[in-house]
Amino acid sequence: MIILKIGGSILTNKDSAESEVDSASLKRIASEIKASLDISQKQLIIVHGAGSFGHPPAKEYKIGEPFDESEYPQKRIGFCKTQNAVKKLNMLICEAFIEEELPVVAVPASSFMSATDKRITEGNLDYFKKYLQKGFIPVIYGDVVLDSNLEICVISGDQLIQYLAKNLNPEMVVLGTDVDGVYNKNPKTHDDAIFFDRFSSLEDLDTLEGTTNVDVTGGMVGKIKELLYLADLGIESKIINAEVEDNIFKVLENEEVKGTVISRGN
Ligand code: ADP
Repeated sequence: MIILKIGGSILTNKDSAESEVDSASLKRIASEIKASLDISQKQLIIVHGAGSFGHPPAKEYKIGEPFDESEYPQKRIGFCKTQNAVKKLNMLICEAFIEEELPVVAVPASSFMSATDKRITEGNLDYFKKYLQKGFIPVIYGDVVLDSNLEICVISGDQLIQYLAKNLNPEMVVLGTDVDGVYNKNPKTHDDAIFFDRFSSLEDLDTLEGTTNVDVTGGMVGKIKELLYLADLGIESKIINAEVEDNIFKVLENEEVKGTVISRGN
C-alpha cells in the first residue's frame, strides 16, 4: 500500500483570497497517477490538503482555539463553513481524478474521526481497508472534526498521513509539495538554504519559520513534526516536489526522485 499526499500548495492557489483550484496541476497529477496504475495495480490512498479552501474560514472562526460557551453557535457555523469549503475542494479533485478513470472515493475525516486536543484519537479505518480491497482509491483530506476537549478542531492532511501510516503499515509514504523537500530554512525566502537528502531532527532547521503561506496547520514545520513521529515508529516517508513533471509518476514507480527522506536512522 502507498499513501500519497498532495499538498494544498499544489492543488490550490493558497495566496489567493478566492478559493481557486489549480486545474492544470490537478490534471497532470491525476494523469501521472493513472499512468503508474496502468503499469501495475497498486493499493493507493490519497490524502490532500485544504489549501486556499479550508484555511480562510478556519482562521476567521479561530477553529481549534478555546472559546466561551456563548460563542459556541458561531464556532459551530465556522465548523460548517470550513467543512463545506474543504468538501468543495475534494469534489473538484475527485472530479478531475474520475475524469482520468481513477476509482477515487471520498472518505471525509469529519464523518468518522474525532480528536482530543487536536490529535486524532478515534477513526476506524475498516472502510478504508474495504475500499482498498475492492480496488478503490480512498481519498481523505484536511478537515474539521469534533474534539473531546476543544469541541471542534482542524485536522491537517499531514496529521492524517501520520494517523493512516501508523495504523495501516504502508510500504511507501510520499508527500508531494511545492519545494524539493526540507531545507535548513525556507528556500522560498532564503537563496542560501541548504537541502537535506535525509532529515532526522528538528534541530537541523535554522529557524522554525512555518511556511510562506498563511496556514493554520503549521506548514513545513508541522509536516516535519508529523513525519518525525512516524520515523520514531520506524516508518520512513519522503517529501518530493509535485510541481516537477513526472515526479509523482516516478516515485510511484520506485524510480529515483529528488526529495527528503524523513527517518530517525542515517
Ligand atoms: P503543502 O500545502 O504542500 O502541504 P505547505 O505550504 O504547508 O505545503 O508547506 C510547504 C512550504 O513550506 C514551502 O512552500 C516552503 O515555502 C515552506 N517552508 C518553510 N520552511 C521550510 C524549510 N525549512 N524547508 C522547506 N520548505 C519550507
